[in-house]
Amino acid sequence: MGSAEGHQLHAFFFPLMAQGHLIPFVDLARVFSSHGIKVTIITTPLNARLFSNTIDRDKQLGLDISVQLIPFPSEEAGLPQGYENAGSFPNFPAVISKFINALSLFQRPFEDLLQEHRPDFVVADMCFHWVTDVSAKLGISSLIFHGTCFFSLCVSDNFIRYTPHENIKSETDTFVVPGLPDQIELTMSQLSDHLKKPTDFGKMMERVKESERRSFGILVNSFYELEPAYADHYRKVIGMKAWHVGPVSLSNGGIAYKSERGNRAFFDEHACLSWLDSKKPNSVLYVSFGSMTRFTAAQLLEIAMGIEASGQPFIWVLRVNDEDAEQRRITEEFEEKIERRGLIIRDWAPQILFLDHPAMGGFVTHCGWNSTLESLTAGVPMITWPLFAEQFYNEKLVTQVLKVGVSVGAMEYQRIGGEKALVKRKDIKKAVEQLMGGGEEADQMRIRAREFKKMAERALEEGGSSYADVTALIEELRLYPRPAV
Ligand code: UDP
Repeated sequence: MGSAEGHQLHAFFFPLMAQGHLIPFVDLARVFSSHGIKVTIITTPLNARLFSNTIDRDKQLGLDISVQLIPFPSEEAGLPQGYENAGSFPNFPAVISKFINALSLFQRPFEDLLQEHRPDFVVADMCFHWVTDVSAKLGISSLIFHGTCFFSLCVSDNFIRYTPHENIKSETDTFVVPGLPDQIELTMSQLSDHLKKPTDFGKMMERVKESERRSFGILVNSFYELEPAYADHYRKVIGMKAWHVGPVSLSNGGIAYKSERGNRAFFDEHACLSWLDSKKPNSVLYVSFGSMTRFTAAQLLEIAMGIEASGQPFIWVLRVNDEDAEQRRITEEFEEKIERRGLIIRDWAPQILFLDHPAMGGFVTHCGWNSTLESLTAGVPMITWPLFAEQFYNEKLVTQVLKVGVSVGAMEYQRIGGEKALVKRKDIKKAVEQLMGGGEEADQMRIRAREFKKMAERALEEGGSSYADVTALIEELRLYPRPAV
């Protein structure tokens, strides 16, 4: 029995509890809701608080969107109460494996919710790979959201397919990732451990891969015009069923949505915006490394000195370990010294609100996919400083394929709790000068970034490529036969 035409489809959205996944997931759910889907976001109480105002605002606008709470199994997982979001752990290295193990404990309550509500389809984070089979048992279609781009999905797949790194002995020798539309080179030092030896994360990624093939398909937070060769490669060569549905951050129109997206920042937003208003167009550097990164005191000092030496006005979103006296001293001294040449925002900033400001001229980013795409969506070129996950792949997309960024020259993957070579102040200064100091190359990057901004906006408008893919997917789901309940 197919879903009757005109019947409002109901979807469950099940995000991973980490800001870099949760934020785009909520946006994604809201994109589907704006297409007339009844949307239920499944999450735990503390995570729901991070976006409850956004959902309330959507409801007031008449969207059929709500949140279904599910308890975090803290006790069973051996985690302290309140540890519900991977970005909020002060002692991340000590607890992250417990958090990952806790993800499978959601299976039973999730299955109960499926039984009770029988949605038409489910969109689950890749980390909940078991959702594919649990949904299939009930005849419910499931889609997977990775949170990254086509380019990095293709690179990851080609690592599995061709194992180009297998016989590379040196950490620093470059090798080519074969089978891609461009010549992409990496070093062993830039790879995650799971590509080098068996790890729990590697085992999870194998399960993710298996579940992908059995799922209805993959949703990608990107737009076709950004990476057409890789969107085609992923679908036609790798053979995955995928829809591009982004940039989902564009679902946040207006200051209220932008300033509360993902969390609430504790600073004077108006003072900050008027500081930005006082700056020349394209002159301010935005320095932020996503929701998880914690640097050592020595690295914080290099960043501070590098930015200062560049002479550029800046906003630095700074996360300091308050128990580390050295970190406190370095950052407090720096804050006193810079006066109004730059702004330091503690812990959390309204990123897309800032990036959209005309004074913004460059983004020093760790190349998390959300930050990368948000920079492109705002037309802001980047200084790339990848740290972990697929960020070294994203860097290649930005600097080599799209040519909208300058690399700071980071060479080493950040292992959980591991030591890592410092990125030096002189390299930071050099990259900032290259991007912000004018010149033909920098101008071209800025022009290209602006073109991507226009393409991004167009993609989600009616008739645009992402809008069309969302519509096509909904139609396909509508016609997909479902067993009678
Ligand atoms: N973000 C934000 N303010 C901050 C830090 C992060 O709004 O101070 C948002 C950012 O806009 C992005 C997400 O958090 O949407 C971070 O995702 P990303 O993939 O860039 O990095 P991750 O946090 O996963 O490392």
